[in-house]
Amino acid sequence: NERKRKAAAVIEEVEQRFATPTALLRGIADAMVVEMERGLRADPHAPVKMLISYVDNLPTGDEHGLFYALDLGGTNFRVIRVQLGGREKRVVKQEYQEVCIPPHLMVGTSTVGEDVVAELSRSMERQGLDMKVTALVNDTVGTLAGGRYVDNDVVAAVILGTGTNAAYVEHANAIPKWNGLLPKSGDMVRVLLCLHAWNTDVLWTSNCQKSFLVLSLTMPWILKLYEKMISGMYLGEIVRRILLKLAHDASLFGDVVPTKLEQPFVLRTPDMSAMHHDTSHDLKHLGAKLKDILGVPDTSLEARYITLHVCDLVAERGARLAAAGVYGILKKLGKDRVPSNGFQSHRTVVAMDGGLYEHYKKFSSCLETTLADLLGEEAASSVVVKLANDGSGIGAALLAASHSQYA
Ligand code: ADP
Ligand code: MG
Repeated sequence: NERKRKAAAVIEEVEQRFATPTALLRGIADAMVVEMERGLRADPHAPVKMLISYVDNLPTGDEHGLFYALDLGGTNFRVIRVQLGGREKRVVKQEYQEVCIPPHLMVGTSTVGEDVVAELSRSMERQGLDMKVTALVNDTVGTLAGGRYVDNDVVAAVILGTGTNAAYVEHANAIPKWNGLLPKSGDMVRVLLCLHAWNTDVLWTSNCQKSFLVLSLTMPWILKLYEKMISGMYLGEIVRRILLKLAHDASLFGDVVPTKLEQPFVLRTPDMSAMHHDTSHDLKHLGAKLKDILGVPDTSLEARYITLHVCDLVAERGARLAAAGVYGILKKLGKDRVPSNGFQSHRTVVAMDGGLYEHYKKFSSCLETTLADLLGEEAASSVVVKLANDGSGIGAALLAASHSQYA
């Protein structure tokens, strides 16, 4: 019938525009290598900002004492306490508490342009806390440092949470813009990749960008494309936009478009993930979510299956694009191939963190299989992608320790 035909047409269009064939992923990885090199030359127009981390001393392992890390993310605020017991005992105990950042604090007027460390120190003093801030680190750099403390083969850290970012270890001599003293930790410098503004020509000329136009995203979004297709902040919203189109064009949820479906960001990525993981034969959990979130009491089995398929398309595109980014970093490091001397290549570890990677299993497993495909069997056998749970917080605590006069 007419409705079915219209739904199929929308789905087909999304499928086409969301397609991420391997050739596209390879193009993205190559573009990423080029952009990273540009960023390292400090080209002012480089879209990928390459920031060098000045937090330099890696923990030696000798650190002793109680250290705290505060991790303020885009969604959650975590306080981590780590007790370090020196070379023998290492991390004796680690605890954490996590709270959602209340919306009214998200839109506060303090922070921008102020010295965060000074502000934080002042607030702690006001609270009568006898504590000293010794390090301010980006979460990806924290994950990298924390990862290397437990596993020396960690070469990069990638965070897939509310947003997406990465850090990796670079040779100082590969950084033309590096004109400071060589870091104490030898010839290695930690470089932080800021992906927010990255938008390669490859993506522009691909079908991917058109999908955003079709779904009528506003201009500023299109300008910051890559991260928007991947990050936890947006995946649920992309699903909502497609469902809205299906509701309009093909009456997916009945004759009237549910008003709640019109509300931006009403469908969050954790909800999308919950729907996507429903394995019941009648998709009853998915149905219950649609009822909760969109206020649609009864959904047809067909509507549920279509919703499931939409989640699949959006998550798969995000995960495959994320894999292309990780592959790009490995390429930049020359870890994407087996050495020509024929020796078994050394183990290469990528530490992953972030709520999206940790909790969205279909996303993370798609990322991993795509990365393995891109690497090919032989190179993939030496690359390990592993969850560094709370890596950023522990890494920050370790860096605090190694920069502390008390350690
Ligand atoms: P941040 O440090 O930016 O606050 P986190 O690493 O804590 O982010 O991850 C939170 C994000 O992870 C959420 O914004 C959400 O997008 C995503 N997320 C959390 N739980 C899930 C889940 N169960 N399924 C999918 N995504 C999730
Ligand atoms: Mg975080």
